[in-house]
Amino acid sequence: MRRLGAHMSISGGLPRALERGRTLGCNTVQFFLKNARSWRSRVLDDGERGEFLMLKDRLGLEPLIAHCSYLINIASPNPSLYERSIEALREELLRTQALGIPYYVLHPGSPTGTGEQEGLYRIARALNLLLQDLQGVMVLLETTARGIGSRFENFARILEMLEEEQKVGICIDTCHLWVAGYDIADPRGYEETLKELDDLIGLEKLKVVHLNDSKAPRGSGRDRHEHIGFGKLGPEPFRWLLQDERLKELPFIIETPKGVTPEGEDWDEVNLRILRSLEGEDEDKGDSGGYRP
Ligand code: MN
Ligand code: MN
Ligand code: ZN
Repeated sequence: MRRLGAHMSISGGLPRALERGRTLGCNTVQFFLKNARSWRSRVLDDGERGEFLMLKDRLGLEPLIAHCSYLINIASPNPSLYERSIEALREELLRTQALGIPYYVLHPGSPTGTGEQEGLYRIARALNLLLQDLQGVMVLLETTARGIGSRFENFARILEMLEEEQKVGICIDTCHLWVAGYDIADPRGYEETLKELDDLIGLEKLKVVHLNDSKAPRGSGRDRHEHIGFGKLGPEPFRWLLQDERLKELPFIIETPKGVTPEGEDWDEVNLRILRSLEGEDEDKGDSGGYRP
């Protein structure tokens, strides 16, 4: 069985994300470390940290994955936003380390108006500054829908500029790959995408896979997540990923829309069930199994 989980809310405190994941039947979980749309960071007291560490051991959710907050932009040409982003990132990375979380997913950021090369340089500079003090945490740069991070070449370039390259890996997001132009819904396109990733970055650098279908067409650059099998990707690429021998040790995380189906079922439960059935389904059985859009 693959490590399969969802991005969970931290409403009520960080330990609640773990409990929510467990209730859903996840064996891995992703969450924010704080309100993702605010610079402010709630103090994490010893009680909350203790409860988190206790539940982490007890619930067998592995690996745990922290996701960056949205305001951080370490590619920014604006000096005050750049500095602020570095400080916020430093705080999130320290928290990740204090909580014994092995992976921290980071958006590469946007060079807003300036060139790509300068943006890549600023990202590498910020990471070189922060990684020195970091132990036991790997920063995973996430593939993006457009701009920096929408081509594997961008990650290869950043890695080249790092002093401690071993502390950085990558996280692919199926929706982002697709809208960035990678044709992962076609069997040959899927293979070519993985080959390109391996050639430019190395498959061993891939540590987390985000599973999201896409409302938007390929190459559109529009980041609109859809339920698994209900979007432009359809169920096939998810089956390939979940049955790919090369990826069998990786955690897979859904970030599909939250809510309930017209039948009153929790959408996370439905999406995870579809993925479990695709994981166990034979290709030649066609689109039977548990997949019912
Ligand atoms: Mn993300
Ligand atoms: Mn994602
Ligand atoms: Zn997205």
